[in-house]
Parts: sequence; structure tokens; C-alpha cells
Amino acid sequence: MNVQYDIAIVGGGIVGLATAYQLSLQYKERNLRIVVFEKEPTLAFHQTGHNSGVIHSGIYYKPGSLRAQNCYEGRHALVRFCKEQQIPFDICGKVIVASKESELPYLQEIYDKGIANKTEDIELIEPEQIREIEPYCDGIKAIRVGCAGIVDYQQVAQRYADLFVANGGEIKTNCLVKDFERKNDITTIITSLGNFDSRYVIACGGAQSDRLAKKYHLDPGMRIVGFRGEYYELLNHDKVKNLIYPVPDPNFPWLGVHFTRMIQGEIECGPNAVFAFKREGYEKTDFDWQDTKDALSYSGFWQLTRKHLAFGIAEQYRSISKAAFHKSLLHLIPSLQMDEIAPGRSGVRALALTPEGSMIDDFKFVHADNAIHVLNAPSPAATASLAIGKTIADMAKQKFNQLV
Ligand SMILES: Cc1cc2nc3c(=O)[nH]c(=O)nc-3n(C[C@H](O)[C@H](O)[C@H](O)COP(=O)(O)OP(=O)(O)OC[C@H]3O[C@@H](n4cnc5c(N)ncnc54)[C@H](O)[C@@H]3O)c2cc1C
Repeated sequence: MNVQYDIAIVGGGIVGLATAYQLSLQYKERNLRIVVFEKEPTLAFHQTGHNSGVIHSGIYYKPGSLRAQNCYEGRHALVRFCKEQQIPFDICGKVIVASKESELPYLQEIYDKGIANKTEDIELIEPEQIREIEPYCDGIKAIRVGCAGIVDYQQVAQRYADLFVANGGEIKTNCLVKDFERKNDITTIITSLGNFDSRYVIACGGAQSDRLAKKYHLDPGMRIVGFRGEYYELLNHDKVKNLIYPVPDPNFPWLGVHFTRMIQGEIECGPNAVFAFKREGYEKTDFDWQDTKDALSYSGFWQLTRKHLAFGIAEQYRSISKAAFHKSLLHLIPSLQMDEIAPGRSGVRALALTPEGSMIDDFKFVHADNAIHVLNAPSPAATASLAIGKTIADMAKQKFNQLV
């Protein structure tokens, strides 16, 4: 039977494109026919195009976890890649700042994780040293993380795509994958541009990962719920030199509202985390009936809401009140004035929730029949993208019998 493709990758975000690029490198000699299907007109539009642009150090993650391993390897690979490809980046370093005594034990825990994760160039510093690095920042203790940096991930993802195409790969944009039909080891991928046959499928659908798994008749054991992260723009650039982070709340997989210098020069503060009525909607008023119904009919969503009701209400309030958002930034920069920040853009994080309401914080890749599904690729998946792509390409080599 004449099959059109050997591997079809669903999703042209940074994970799908890094996977396509790594596969095209590994199988260069074999002339495999690999295609990427992306439903949007442009690549890397969703989480990849709406993130903070930080090259994460890997300090926060549980030692031994996929996030810790892939972040360390991915960061090194990303920096090498940006140098080779002449993509602008800056290893400017960051500070994680404790503002009160109660945060000190967790600050120490983060530092210890950094040591266990072999994060380079980290040290605990005192208030005077914080001021030397960030003159307007107040804190009682901090971790200086020298190996963190900034980059434009849309540019990185586009370069993976260009190299993948140069290696013989194919990308179809405006191509929504609607369903899969499996027959005799061949999968027919039903899309808005017609039907395509492939031997293997790799689904990297970001906020749609659970739905793609279900279409493949795989029970993902979780559901994605969107949490919008809203940013303000810092108008007075004197107040922040590089990256200033608070000590995060250990109950959540997010890093807390921070200050980020972007590679293009602007400085952002955020993001918060509020329930998104649309998984891929970036305005406060965006609404999608199916997304809302799927979240509100899910036990995991209600369990999470019950456990963290006070946090949820505070975040909703901070979303509508500039004064509340401003107040939360004062812990890090006490002299920040209300008129020094203005509402900015937003992104939506795909939060993977179990039916019991637990947040899955590690990366999750599942092999089923002739497919690999990336079910969960939260931050630092952009930093880790080359390592994730390699992990998936290695998994494909192992599991997809006819490739070798
Ligand atoms: C607010 C925010 C800040 C972040 N900050 C950072 C950071 O500073 N550093 C960092 O390393 N990480 C950060 N992250 C995390 C990082 O951006 C994501 O982990 C990463 O972009 C995930 O990439 P992805 O390819 O899995 O998802 P996406 O970028 O969302 O891509 C998935 C793609 O699949 C496509 N797709 C879905 N379903 C279909 C279908 N049926 N047919 C065809 N195409 C489909 C979508 O259109 C989309 O383009 C942040 C994330 C957010 C939301």
C-alpha cells in the first residue's frame, strides 16, 4: 500500500516543531516522509507565541523529573542552537527574592533543588547584593541564578520549522486535524484540507492534547483546563534590569508574578492565573461553549476549585483590579508607582488536571499503538524543546517498529 507519510505530527507549536526537527536530523539518511499539521495560519501561535520568553535554569523542578532533566539538557542545547543560528538571546541571569521570613525555608528548598539539578552559577545572596543586581528590588534573601536568560521562542520555533523543511519535511498550516481512523497499521488523518495516510502519529497539541488523545481512542486520564495569565507592561524601564522573581507558592506549578525583560526590550510584569473560558482565548471576554462545558462538567476542575477557592477569588480580583495587581508587585519593588504599569498582553497555560483535581506538573508523553501523545508540556517546555524533541524522537525509534 502506498502510504503518503511515515510520521504525521499534529501541532506546530515549539514541541511539535522541535520534534519534527530532531526526527529530520535523526532520519536524514532514510528520507522519511514527515509532515506537520497546524490548524492556525501561522506556526507557534498559541502557548509558544504567548509566553514569557525566559530561558529557564531548571532550578525549581523535582530532581530526577522529566522537567528537571529536559530543562537542563534543553537549555544547553537551546543556547548552542541560538549561537549557531545567530538567534538573539541573552543569558542575563535572574534573582528569586524572598520578601518575608516565612518564605525562607522554601527559598532554601529551591536552592537545594538547584544543587541537585546541577544548575550552574547559583548562589544565596543578601539584601545588599540584591540591590547591586537590581537597585530597586527589596528582599531579605535571594538566589542569584546566573544561567537563566531570555529569547524569542516564536523565532526559535520558526527556525526549527525552516531547518525541518530544509531537511525534506513538509508543513501544512490552516490544517485542522479533526479525527483519526485506524486500519491495518495505517492511520488516516481526517483534516480540514482532506484525508492523509500515515504509518505513525505524534500528537503535540498543547491545549488540545486531551482531545487529540480521545480522538485516537486513548484515555488520557486527565483533562486540560485553560488558565489565562495576564501581564502588565512596565513603563519605567529604570526599575528592572533583567529578571526578578518572587518565591513561588509551592501549592501551584506557576512561578508567581514576576518582572521579565523581553529580548525585544520591553519589560513585563505577570502573569497571574485566572480560569479561561476559552482554551485558546487571550481576551478577558473570550468564551468558548465547548471549552467551558468541558471544564465545568469535570470533577477535577471542581476538586481544584474547592481546594484553592481563596486563591481563585484573589486571582479573579487581581485580574479586574489594577490596584490589586500593583500591590502584589510592591513586595519586589516597593517604589513602583501605579502609573508606571499599563495593561499588556496575555497567554493561556494548558493545565493538566486529574479527575481528583491534582495538577500534573511533570511532562507526560504516552505511547499507544502507532502513536505518541504529548499529553502535558507545561513550562519549561519552550526552554526544554530540543531535549523534548530528542526524547520523543528516541521514543519513536524504540516504539515505531518499522522505522528502524
Ligand atoms: C503565559 C505563559 C508563560 C510561559 N513562559 C515560559 C517561559 O518563559 N519559558 C518556558 O520555557 N516556557 C514558558 N511557558 C511554557 C511554554 O510556552 C509551553 O510549555 C510551550 O510553548 C508548549 O509548546 P507546545 O508546542 O506543546 O504548545 P503550543 O505552543 O500551544 O502548540 C500546540 C499547537 O498545536 C496546534 N493544534 C492543537 N490542536 C490541533 C489540531 N486538532 N489540528 C492541528 N493543530 C492543532 C495548536 O494550534 C498549536 O499551534 C509559558 C507558557 C505560558 C502560557
